[in-house]
Amino acid sequence: NPVTTFEQAFRDYPEILEEIAKQGFQHPSPIQSQAWPVLLSGDDLIGIAQTGTGKTLAFLLPALIHIEGQPVPREERMGPSVLVMAPTRELALQIDKEVKKYYYKGIKALCVYGGGNRREQINTLNTGVDVIIATPGRLNDLVEAGHISVKSITYVVLDEADRMLDMGFEPQIRKVLYDIRPDRQTVMTSATWPIGVRRLADSYMINPVQVYVGTLDLAACHSVTQHIVLLDDTEEAKFETVLDFVANMSPEEKAIIFCGKKARADYLASELALRGFECQAIHGDREQVDREQALADITDGTVQILIATDVASRGLDIEDISHVINYDFPRNIEEYVHRVGRTGRAGRTGCSISYFTRADWASAKDLIPILEEANQYVPEEIFEMSK
Ligand code: ADP
Ligand code: MG
Repeated sequence: NPVTTFEQAFRDYPEILEEIAKQGFQHPSPIQSQAWPVLLSGDDLIGIAQTGTGKTLAFLLPALIHIEGQPVPREERMGPSVLVMAPTRELALQIDKEVKKYYYKGIKALCVYGGGNRREQINTLNTGVDVIIATPGRLNDLVEAGHISVKSITYVVLDEADRMLDMGFEPQIRKVLYDIRPDRQTVMTSATWPIGVRRLADSYMINPVQVYVGTLDLAACHSVTQHIVLLDDTEEAKFETVLDFVANMSPEEKAIIFCGKKARADYLASELALRGFECQAIHGDREQVDREQALADITDGTVQILIATDVASRGLDIEDISHVINYDFPRNIEEYVHRVGRTGRAGRTGCSISYFTRADWASAKDLIPILEEANQYVPEEIFEMSK
């Protein structure tokens, strides 16, 4: 039975209720109200939900309670009790931040990811941690080198499983899961439900309860107004249009501008900076510290514009993004939905503006049902192109 209030789920855990109250949350989100009873009773769970639906706390709060409830006292355990795998370092760091916010009964978390200081991560591991949040690559590396023992892990989360598979992490995920005790509790979240994810669930989960929020069909958040802007297939057309947009941003607005390639993101960032528009860029070639700085700057409002490649499009929860600009239309419609989902989060409304040129014609056919499903205006030309 879904819970309808936080008290119903966590009445025995006042510290957790207190922190939730501090955050100002009113009600559990739909995925939370369904996931918490399942996870608190020890069952496996698959949560399929759009981005921005509160999946992090859905798996995290039961994980914290799980750690406390283990028969072996924490100080006697040989290693971590909870493992969360996430596709990108940004996402892993975000989950880490969330655990630390709750700091429930002094539970210690460590985030391990490629690009982070390996030595430092190992030192922290040696002091004993309860929760490991990891990208699959670095996790494997540290497990194989004997720095992480997976023997005591009893709660595993695969966050954004679809994304991890897209990124080619399946071998690393399988390798790690193989060594974790089979009577563990396993949680999987995913925005979509493709065959690869189903197979993973089949091999590693025991009678999982499946929870869907929204339709199983790909659907963009309904809280986002989606505009399609048809442009000539020239760099000037795009640049003039984006310039016009940023010049008209009001001080309380924040935008993510998505580019197809790292070099294009850097180029756009420097062109905008040249014209006095402060912005930050985030993509896979930037140093970890720079990526974190970029996220911090957009989050606290130091800059209003973040220029990103798809590395930033999933899972990232940046507060109050008012606009998503698809400067380059994404390669596939799944990516479109994920990018658009960066705005309109947590009950707010948002706006996406997608530049659409001749080069993007092939996407017209897939775009129409997404726009129609969300009751958005479909330009006549898009129908023409789809024929
Ligand atoms: P997802 O993983 O589904 O994309 P997140 O877990 O990142 O979503 O949550 C998105 C945002 O919603 C975060 O800012 C989070 O703090 C907020 N949030 C989570 N649960 C609630 C809630 N019950 N009520 C309001 N906001 C919430
Ligand atoms: Mg998430």
